[in-house]
Parts: sequence; C-alpha cells; structure tokens
Amino acid sequence: MKNPPVLVAADAAVHAGVHAQAWLQDDPNEGVRHGLDYADDWRYNRLLASLLPAHRERLLASAECVYLRSAQMLHEAAGFIQWVYFPITALASLTVPDRTGACAEVATVGRDGVVGLPLIDGNYTRSRAVVQVPGKALRLRASVVAEEFARHAAVRRLLLAYSQALVAEIVQTALCSRHHALEQQLARLILLRLDRQQAGELAMTQESMAGMLGVRRESVTLAAARLQQGGYIRYARGHIAVQDRGGLEGRCCDCYRTIRLEFDRLLRPRPAY
Ligand SMILES: [Zn+2]
Repeated sequence: MKNPPVLVAADAAVHAGVHAQAWLQDDPNEGVRHGLDYADDWRYNRLLASLLPAHRERLLASAECVYLRSAQMLHEAAGFIQWVYFPITALASLTVPDRTGACAEVATVGRDGVVGLPLIDGNYTRSRAVVQVPGKALRLRASVVAEEFARHAAVRRLLLAYSQALVAEIVQTALCSRHHALEQQLARLILLRLDRQQAGELAMTQESMAGMLGVRRESVTLAAARLQQGGYIRYARGHIAVQDRGGLEGRCCDCYRTIRLEFDRLLRPRPAY
C-alpha cells in the first residue's frame, strides 16, 4: 500500500505566484520521491486559464499544489467546505447520497471546473465530492475564493457561469438517465470523462460505473460489451480505451454534445474575465 503524500517546502520553487509548497509522492517503482512540477499547471485548468492575469495571479498567490488520492473525500454532503480544488489531472465525482447510503453521480469535475463551488452561496451543499481519478489539483482555502468572489465582478461572473454549466449538466444527466438507453448513458459518461482528464484511457471498474449510473453491475457489463462489440471501446482489467471516438459520439445520445456545447457557450473566453 502506498504511503500517504508528504507535504514539504520546496526551496526555490516560487513561480507564477504559487506558494513554494508541493506534495511529494512516493514512487512505487523507483522507491524515490519526486516533486510535482506545478509551475504552469494552472494553464490546464479551464477556469484558471480563463481569468485575466491580475485576477489569476491573486488567486494563485494563495494556492498550493496537492496530489489527490483515489476515493479521497473532498467535501461531504451537508458538510462545511474548507478547501476549493481546481483539478489539473485529477477528476472528481459529485454524488448525492440518500439516508440509506445509496448514492448516484450527478456530475463530474475535472480540468474544466472547480470543486467547492457551494461556498459562493452559504457554503452548504447536498452533494459529496469524491476523487475518481487520482492526480494533481491546485488547492485554495474556501475563504480566499469567497473573498475574491465578493470583491471582483470578473471572478464572480466566471464562477457563476461555471455554476450554470454544472446545472445544465445535472439537468441533462437527469433526462438521460430517465429516457436514454444504458449503452448511450455509458457512452456519455466515457466521453465526458475523457474530455476532463489528461490521460487517454479511463480507469473504471464495472462496479464504479454501475454506481455512477445508478444501475446493477450486470447491466453495465452488457452495455460495455455492446460498445466493445461495435468496435467503439476496448475494455480490459478495469481500463477503457476508446478505439473509435467519432463512432462512440455517434452511438451516444445528444446529451454529451448538449453538455459540451453548453460548457463551451458559458465558459467561452470573454474580455470581462
Ligand atoms: Zn442521454
């Protein structure tokens, strides 16, 4: 089992206004630790890259690079949000649990978004944010982001635009899960995840896919088999590789395209940010 990451002070790593701290992670292959290179990581996060330099630098001055572990809880439902995360290579899942503990995914957040958005409206959330794909993120105290949100209209407009995009995704996902074939839902899930992470393959077990879609594992097995038989994906040992991206988009319902277009419309670069 991996040792937990260790927080260390980086000696001369002050760059782009980011704090001189980095999570180091034990390398299981080499037995040595590597510092994570985060100097330009903000470029890979769509929201941070959209901000005007002055606004971005002020936020980055309070940021630190963290390595998020698989299944790590970023915030709990009905919990207080202490940290805000801008994913770089990590991807988180927003789920809503019920009283029995059952939960279903309502949205994912990767390099096109931010985890911890409810802080802008009373810091209360019904959702739980859990890391699905381990990797890097830039982390800030929620109080810092809340202060920037209150003080600067440009930051406010960008976070509200993302909030609107997230609502659009949740609404579309609700429609999709009610009216579209499971095979199409699975294609939507795969395509959105690929867009939001840097790796070209997805690491997902059938159990986790079933949990995300709120269905039985056997149903996911059949849907994945059909996509594989069609030559769209290759699924083996918990890894999904897309073999025919265009074909998979064509096999998917309109929900993937609708969500992607809505994100592009709301988060298109604007001088005001
Ligand atoms: Zn759909």
